[in-house]
Amino acid sequence: MISANMKHVQERIDAACANSGRDTKEVTLIAVSKTKPVEALMEAYEAGARDFGENKVQELLDKIPQLPSDVRWHMIGHLQRNKVKYIIDKVCLIHSVDSLRLAEEISKEALKHGITANILVEVNVAAEESKFGVSVEEAETLVSDIAKLPGICIKGLMTIAPFVDNEEENREYFRKLKQLSVDIMRKNIDNRNMDKELSMGMTGDYKVAVEEGATYVRVGTGIFGERDYKKES
Ligand SMILES: *Cc1c(COP(=O)(O)O)cnc(C)c1O
Repeated sequence: MISANMKHVQERIDAACANSGRDTKEVTLIAVSKTKPVEALMEAYEAGARDFGENKVQELLDKIPQLPSDVRWHMIGHLQRNKVKYIIDKVCLIHSVDSLRLAEEISKEALKHGITANILVEVNVAAEESKFGVSVEEAETLVSDIAKLPGICIKGLMTIAPFVDNEEENREYFRKLKQLSVDIMRKNIDNRNMDKELSMGMTGDYKVAVEEGATYVRVGTGIFGERDYKKES
């Protein structure tokens, strides 16, 4: 089932790329495996998945040694500063940086490990109260402050759109994130401080997100099925 789901999601990504004149190679599908057992991740791996997204540090640390070493791990959940040290050299991209203090901690730990940490700045484009992320207005200042830190590379922006029945309702937010990214990059032509990656789109809205320029889509339910949080202890 997981393998068929992955094929279906990839086909819809390919179609969305075709619709919008994009090269499908620009879009990376991240299999969001939070709450799912390692057997399910292995099934996705065998079907070709190499990018996995998790939102909890402990779960990430438990799973990493159980999967082949060519997996790229993405931290997509809210990250506490005191946990940065556990994952800094184990993930390829931290999607959820929304404060200078968190970025400073990432920078410090990256220097300690002699690496450059790749991050995205999380923007709460829809201004939902329940969500993490900086406002659209604050994003540019945060990007330029983080860009001054050593050991950190801002690959782009991330957003979590509202939960909606009709994915078209989220198009405006994806468009807004893309525009914000273009605006920020334009202001820093000489001193290029941000890359063009856009992490946006989940099971309910990745088609629209791809049409609007997503370079990473984070799909959980659409690959692994519904999550059962009650099973968690
Ligand atoms: C859980 C989660 C996803 C995946 O959600 P689905 O709707 O199951 O595809 C994507 N992004 C983030 C940040 C998440 O926490």
